[in-house]
Amino acid sequence: MDRNAVERRVQELNDLLKEYGHAYYVLDKPAVPDSVYDSLMQELLAIEAENPDLIFPDSPSQRVGGEVLEGFSKVVHEYPMLSLSNVFNEEDIRDFDRRVQAEAGNATYICELKIDGLAVSLKYENGMFVQGSTRGDGTVGEEITANLKTIRTIPLKLSEPVTIEVRGEAYMPKKSFMRLNEARDENGEEPFANPRNAAAGSLRQLDPKIAASRNLAVFIYGVGGDGTAYGQDSHSDSLDFLASIGFETNNKSKRCKTIEEVLEYIESWQERRQDLDYEIDGIVIKVDSYEDQEQLGFTAKSPRWATAYKFPAEEVHTKLLDIELSVGRTGVVTPTAILEPVQVAGTTVARASLHNEDLIREKDIRIGDAVVIRKAGDIIPEVVTVLIDQRKGNEEPYHMPENCPVCNSELVRIEGEVALRCVNPQCPAQMKEALIHFVSRNAMNIEGIGERVVDQLYTSSLVHDVSDLYGLTKEQLLSLERMGEKSATNLLNAIEASKTNSLEKLLFGLGIRHVGVRAAHILSEEFGTLDEIAKADADRLTSIHEIGDKVADAVITFFANEDVLEVIGKLKTYGVNMDYKGRVRQELPTEGPFAGKTVVLTGKLLILTRNEAKERIEALGGKVSGSVSKKTDLVIAGEEAGSKLVKAEELGITVWNETELVDALGEKE
Ligand code: NAD
Repeated sequence: MDRNAVERRVQELNDLLKEYGHAYYVLDKPAVPDSVYDSLMQELLAIEAENPDLIFPDSPSQRVGGEVLEGFSKVVHEYPMLSLSNVFNEEDIRDFDRRVQAEAGNATYICELKIDGLAVSLKYENGMFVQGSTRGDGTVGEEITANLKTIRTIPLKLSEPVTIEVRGEAYMPKKSFMRLNEARDENGEEPFANPRNAAAGSLRQLDPKIAASRNLAVFIYGVGGDGTAYGQDSHSDSLDFLASIGFETNNKSKRCKTIEEVLEYIESWQERRQDLDYEIDGIVIKVDSYEDQEQLGFTAKSPRWATAYKFPAEEVHTKLLDIELSVGRTGVVTPTAILEPVQVAGTTVARASLHNEDLIREKDIRIGDAVVIRKAGDIIPEVVTVLIDQRKGNEEPYHMPENCPVCNSELVRIEGEVALRCVNPQCPAQMKEALIHFVSRNAMNIEGIGERVVDQLYTSSLVHDVSDLYGLTKEQLLSLERMGEKSATNLLNAIEASKTNSLEKLLFGLGIRHVGVRAAHILSEEFGTLDEIAKADADRLTSIHEIGDKVADAVITFFANEDVLEVIGKLKTYGVNMDYKGRVRQELPTEGPFAGKTVVLTGKLLILTRNEAKERIEALGGKVSGSVSKKTDLVIAGEEAGSKLVKAEELGITVWNETELVDALGEKE
């Protein structure tokens, strides 16, 4: 390449990597697979190594991670949160070892799994968790303490009163990732590309409830700053120390005396990584002794005493034979790619969800295309890209039909959603899915009815809606193919037993949109009976902590439907229990200064703690919310109240000081 061409390429690589980096780090929505990003980065690094004058100060090779989002407070890291250099093969690893040994001599290593999540920093003062943040651009991160507090593996108090900053990786276990994406598909939301983006997306939400519902975890992998400050002289000793004061460290790490042992460790985890219930994308090799680490030092972007070996992406090529459609319980029509079966990461893959029409169009996926397949988060097969240059000309662009593939009624695209939906409540596909949901474990838990039996019951017209299950007779069941005497008896017993389930199981089983296991529980606990829930209006529903507009709307729409009421009537006649069996929350007061009011607390409270104030307002029928909006009725401004107070004044909302709050609380005691 002549000099001009090299310069052009450097510019091009800078631009592309910046664009992809922004999508990945800031938007949590990668534009290309990691392997593509990594190879462009390696190309840039190689050119820069030969032409140091072409290293721009803002080159992606010189930067760590992303930038800080608006809406979060900024945290300036006391010690920069760096990235790691990457190695991709045995030769690179041996080179790394040679450099280390030349510099430090006789250094030994500690190898750790490279958890595919996002780096977080946690600060403790005298053993108490005081602040948590993201890496951001390495120097300045986002303050996400409230979100991190929702993670159970983060101790709020350590077993010793130490003041310490630790670093770790927040991640989403594979199972939670899978469930989250299924739910997103079902709700017509875009799925996350991988567990890393799902974890980052969950932690970078302004509402901690979202993070709380995402089942995240953290492995702590080191001390921020000087590791010797706590009396240890190696990284591995620090890990033991961190575990001893209450942190969850990853127990798969291993001390390795030689680079041969490092290579063995890598090989063994490369084979076994599917067995872990979290995703790893490589192995981190660190020089163990702090003295050696100090000798080796840092570059601007990463420590010289550590490197990350990245597993090769398991991407394979195959052919997309067809696109099939399925209709889910809520009517969402999901396209699935039918593939020529191939082996990917340990299993045979023959299908991959294409999620929605936008994705098909974005990737320009056509029937007959050669495609690249991988498993997102190691588990869910996905079509990464189409190999456009392998097209022969006979591939067919795909268009979603205008009508439901099952009941033929017109499909609609709900505003703000990417999915197409069949809105015919009588659509057989939806009715069957509704039955499968009703009998599932978290719902009525009726064992012995799987997809096949539901299909038979429905096709033979024995069961039309969920209430019909309770009218089934033994003769009817025996008339089904492959249904024996014993299975029929067991099934009838299971159906009978389900009549005594507590309300929350029935409520979840009815399949109200947005009402998951948790919301079903909250509503049951709050109202005690199905009839009371059916009667509740929007104000009453949203006054419940954790129930938002979306759920309230869905509940009201559901119970306004005649067909639904008819099914509930039939369930009652069959003797299905409609009461909550746990302790029902007391009826909240409907009168008084806080009844039905949305209250925002801001600034420092001196008489009450925030929690006390919140609990007492809620006990008097109020709802405490985190942000000021037109819906806010009252703002309690403590000392040094800031932007929320300003906003309240702008909106003309009543503002009280803490004494007024205490007085009002007192009145009702
Ligand atoms: P990195 O992922 O290569 O390595 C550094 C990070 O590893 C640390 O910050 C930490 O979060 C993590 N880590 C996990 N386990 C660890 C352990 N035991 N000890 C220490 N650290 C551990 O660096 P990065 O800067 O976070 O990300 C760069 C990578 O991100 C690229 O290699 C690429 O694969 C991916 N990326 C992809 C795109 C895309 O468009 N697909 C864009 C940008 C970046």
